[in-house]
Amino acid sequence: MQDALAQVKRQFGQSYPLVIDGTRITTTATIDSINPSHLREIVGKCGKATKADAEQAIAAAHRAFASWRDVEPHTRADIIVNAAAIMRRRRFELAAWQVYECGKNWREADADVCEAIDFLEYYAVEMRRLAKPAGRVLPGEDNAFFYEPRGVTVVIAPWNFPLAILCGMTTAALVTGNTAIMKPAEQSSVIAAKLMDIYEEAGIPPGVVNYLPGVGEEIGPTLAEHPDVALVAFTGSRGVGMLLNRQTAVLASGQAHIKKLIAELGGKNAIIIDDDADLDEAVNGVVASAFGYQGQKCSACSRVIVMAPLYDTFLERLIEATKSLKIGPAEDPSCKVGPVIDDESRQRILGYIDKGKQEARLVHAGDLGFLGSEGTYVAPHIFADMEADAIIAQEEIFGPVLAVIKARDLTDALNVANCTPYALTGGLYSRSPDNIRRVKREFRVGNLYINRKITGALVSRQPFGGFKLSGVGSKAGGADYLLQFLLPRVITENTMRRGFAPNILES
Ligand code: NAD
Repeated sequence: MQDALAQVKRQFGQSYPLVIDGTRITTTATIDSINPSHLREIVGKCGKATKADAEQAIAAAHRAFASWRDVEPHTRADIIVNAAAIMRRRRFELAAWQVYECGKNWREADADVCEAIDFLEYYAVEMRRLAKPAGRVLPGEDNAFFYEPRGVTVVIAPWNFPLAILCGMTTAALVTGNTAIMKPAEQSSVIAAKLMDIYEEAGIPPGVVNYLPGVGEEIGPTLAEHPDVALVAFTGSRGVGMLLNRQTAVLASGQAHIKKLIAELGGKNAIIIDDDADLDEAVNGVVASAFGYQGQKCSACSRVIVMAPLYDTFLERLIEATKSLKIGPAEDPSCKVGPVIDDESRQRILGYIDKGKQEARLVHAGDLGFLGSEGTYVAPHIFADMEADAIIAQEEIFGPVLAVIKARDLTDALNVANCTPYALTGGLYSRSPDNIRRVKREFRVGNLYINRKITGALVSRQPFGGFKLSGVGSKAGGADYLLQFLLPRVITENTMRRGFAPNILES
């Protein structure tokens, strides 16, 4: 990993043009990708697509669809497996890019690369399963049930799992026979360019996948509203998700299909600490879930709901454990807490911390020392005695800020846990079989974890995604996911036909 970090650092500042129809296109304006651990370092300069570029990318993907849709599913799956092999070979290098571009520590960066490899391999296997002939064959009647791709897919991704999420959504589109336009987040467009290279090297033909870095607000409407776009796969904030929901619902002139939107959005996730919980486990699990990658995971814990008898002891141990987290640059493996993604994010989180000071008791604020001017660091903050309806107990902060809430009993804890508009992840630490049973039934979230941390879902083992305002879509890394990229068809043939029409060529 150390070698990879050194090697990648030597490549800082390079340019990454758009890739449309297999052609590199240099733009006049560019987006600097900055290292959040050291703001003076420019990781790379990425193309900044215009609306005209977006239209060109859609046209290229539309043209390429005509042939890609008919490529054998097994051939498409083989190409995707090639991509997984390339990624595995480049595992440390890809992780190193993430350390610098997104401020992920070694372990988190490596986990993201591994998840991307899992998505590639799992979706390849899934496509082979879906390609198997299906449908009832009866005497005199053949029914063929099969799937076909939808068309041009726009993939709009966030920066917080910069390779895995972009790769998961794009691979799902490609392996099912759709063509794709990758619009990565502004903050993580270098790692997205690496993914583009990998797809090309693996054998994805020109135009089938296109790399379109740019500013979401500028090119987003062109991509979402275009009549030739069949599907938008989005992962990101609730605000942008709801905007895309409106934009994709409008029937554009010349559009002869209803667009499909997949939107995986935010969360306000809670862990309940029962009064018989194993505190060693609970404290570790909460700290990892709340402060891993600086709390910038959609699955992160931002509320911990503690049963009254254990409240003071838990809080004390939570504060001590949090104090032990070393804050510093992501490339330093001794640091557990790195920077947040950029200054806009830092300012938003600091705003929430100010609100928290008015709403509850600040019991821990980490010390940044000199780091404050070096990068976009925010130290872990813990607020205690929080009311369940306080702003910072309701809104997604997406930073290292944790609200601790006292519950009278399990009924109270469950009410608090379920009282946000989100339903993404949740957790429980308990040793009581009755309480575990009840929480399984009544804590309604997409992914519920018992006696373990609530982040780090694994492809296929924990298919991931939420409902309510946490999103609309089947779980990523699950058996239903690819179906969203496909249209089911049935062809029925009467095989009792009378007469015989000779083949003209043969006769
Ligand atoms: P974001 O919504 O700001 O950006 C996501 C993407 O949308 C970026 O590529 C951005 O350029 C683009 N975008 C911005 N404005 C747009 C517009 N008007 N039209 C089209 N595209 C636009 O989110 P973010 O800050 O990158 O990511 C953090 C959010 O993502 C959090 O809310 C987090 O919970 C959520 N998230 C959810 C999941 C999940 O699986 N549910 C996973 C990761 C992140």
